[in-house]
Amino acid sequence: MRELLRVAPGGTVDLGAVDPGSTPGLPGPEVTGERRKDWARRQVELVGAELGRQQEMLFADAQARAAGGPAGGAGHRVLLVLQAMDCGGKDGTIKRVAGAMNPLGLHIRSFGPPTPEELRHDFLWRIRRALPPPGYVGVFNRSHYEDVLVARVDSLVPERVWQARYDEINAFEREQAAAGVTLVKVMLHISYAEQGRRLLERLSDPRKHWKYNPSDVDARARWADYQAAYAEAMGRCGTDAAPWHVVPADRKWYRDWAVAHLLRETFDTLDLGYPPAGFDVRRERERLLGTEGNAAGERQVNDR
Ligand code: AMP
Ligand code: MG
Repeated sequence: MRELLRVAPGGTVDLGAVDPGSTPGLPGPEVTGERRKDWARRQVELVGAELGRQQEMLFADAQARAAGGPAGGAGHRVLLVLQAMDCGGKDGTIKRVAGAMNPLGLHIRSFGPPTPEELRHDFLWRIRRALPPPGYVGVFNRSHYEDVLVARVDSLVPERVWQARYDEINAFEREQAAAGVTLVKVMLHISYAEQGRRLLERLSDPRKHWKYNPSDVDARARWADYQAAYAEAMGRCGTDAAPWHVVPADRKWYRDWAVAHLLRETFDTLDLGYPPAGFDVRRERERLLGTEGNAAGERQVNDR
């Protein structure tokens, strides 16, 4: 999936050529033997369990290194960057895919309009502060890319300022990759029509009004400008150190399935394993069994 959905480095992206309703890489019903939707949902559960194991290894590895284990260094981190138009499914993806992992090892951050304090700093200031510590899986719900998306489309800064940001982003991401942050950048690509349906759904259900923002319709009116800004951001910042992926996202079950696989394949490249114990296991076992009441405890453990 990483190769299939990847934006070619240095290339331009033709978002118009990617059908948001398509399902690249998903096996057909002749392979799954059932409705693709049902199959994909179950696969997300299975892959999710695997993600949980991988995350645990990532966490354990960083703990062992921090304790002065043989591997040295600080340990890896994974950072999933999610970008999408409103209603693109960022929240749902976090719930379904990140939600499969242990909350203890997750570092999830959302970015809204910058606060007065954030505005006093460089646009990457708040991003650096939000990076996951070693051993964690970070998720960015929106990111520094907003500073070449909404900032560009709404002219929040002069053109020369946002133009310079593509290179600044590339330098920043290269630096992070060198520091052990494995970036997985994903654009959830929905269609104009699907966004319209989802916004209407939000308006039609009082329980969803909290998700609706009147400014969503203003952004929707500038759809083409946003698509162009996305295409340029992904073309200019899709690098080997930090590739971009476009996930067709009109079908929620495909979206979750694809993002789960992107993460899983990313974990695979890290070649994680459980760290060796930083103590003498045999000796600790003897010590434990030598404590009162633990000879029986051992039998219980074996019987469980
Ligand atoms: P939501 O993700 O629905 O909570 O909305 C967050 C809002 O914050 C979106 O309208 C974004 O465009 C906006 N936002 C995020 N980052 C920035 C930024 N750097 N500059 C301006 N607006 C931003
Ligand atoms: Mg919103």
